[in-house]
Amino acid sequence: MLPNVNQFFDSLPKKQCSKCGSVMEELSECYTHVCNECSGQSIYPLSFKPDPKYNPKAV
Ligand SMILES: [Zn+2]
Repeated sequence: MLPNVNQFFDSLPKKQCSKCGSVMEELSECYTHVCNECSGQSIYPLSFKPDPKYNPKAV
């Protein structure tokens, strides 16, 4: 009999997103440790800078 394939893959460590912890599918590009959502979202905080001229108290 062949070994239980499902059991074999269950014993392997699953690749998880280091940010949200969701299980990621095996991707060809394994250079990232975060899922596509987190890697995409992480771009916005870096490019976002608060406008120094914006003063909510001056309304
Ligand atoms: Zn994620």
